[in-house]
Amino acid sequence: MFENLSERLSGVFDRLTKQGALSEDDVKTALREVRVALLEADVSLPVARDFIKAVQAKATGQAVTKSVTPGQQVVKIVHDEMVHFLTGDEDPGALKIDNPPAPILMVGLQGGGKTTTTAKLAKRLKEKNGKRVLMASLDVNRPAAMEQLAILGAQIGVDTLPIVAGQKPVDIAKRAKQQAAMGGYDVYMLDTAGRLSIDDELMAEVEAVRDVATPRETLLVVDGLTGQDAVHTAQNFDDRIGISGVVLTRMDGDGRGGAALSMRAVTGQPIRFVGLGEKMDAIEEFHPERIAGRILG
Ligand code: GDP
Repeated sequence: MFENLSERLSGVFDRLTKQGALSEDDVKTALREVRVALLEADVSLPVARDFIKAVQAKATGQAVTKSVTPGQQVVKIVHDEMVHFLTGDEDPGALKIDNPPAPILMVGLQGGGKTTTTAKLAKRLKEKNGKRVLMASLDVNRPAAMEQLAILGAQIGVDTLPIVAGQKPVDIAKRAKQQAAMGGYDVYMLDTAGRLSIDDELMAEVEAVRDVATPRETLLVVDGLTGQDAVHTAQNFDDRIGISGVVLTRMDGDGRGGAALSMRAVTGQPIRFVGLGEKMDAIEEFHPERIAGRILG
């Protein structure tokens, strides 16, 4: 469906005179194509612009290596810059879970995959890091969501906080903290309520829970197929709650992943994990090179 960026660029460079180094004009011409590729991959316009500017400064004047075409060389510069931009020097999968019990706050809109991701990460912490994890659902408006977490917990062998009808989210958070401390858990995960769209009531509720729990990590779970909406959601949650990372779900679908770049740009926070299906093992640490490949085609 999308024209491969390397093919696009080789066409462009065929028309350019071959010189020893990438001239400003060569780079400008190539980056016009890169810009189109970014926009097609759902990267937002201001982010695409800033990114292109950074690459332009890096690429101009670079000697063209004999073994590659100028087009391939620009693609490599763009790719490397994107990988660096997406994660910096951080290790996306390393969660801050020292000082037990460490609270992890899970936030996001309804249907984004928050409950599923909470259980997937709990399983991962248990199996990969040998941690004792307690999960608690704070979704008091949807008893089915609380049940869902309990069912997943039983399935993966991770404890969930017993459901007490009529409790408020902050009180459930306090009870989870207490239970985690008394029960010798390493980590407790708070699966907050979601809504279909962002509203003040939701944000106020999550804020109150955050203030009680003082989470070590606040992970925003967003549907990777929702493109610009996901970016908007990330910006809102980061402004109001302050997030420490993003989990992009449904990356088993055919989204092009441009939202990842935009989310990193607007929040400054890294993508930490990607969800790759409905099964409890279908999650992995974020690999920036894979997304960069997907964005650039
Ligand atoms: P929540 O409302 O945010 O808690 O969302 P849920 O965790 O209930 O997930 C909503 C639906 O999306 C469920 O059917 C999940 O199985 C599904 N889901 C969650 N993550 C993924 C993923 O990475 N890939 C796919 N294909 N489906 C997912």
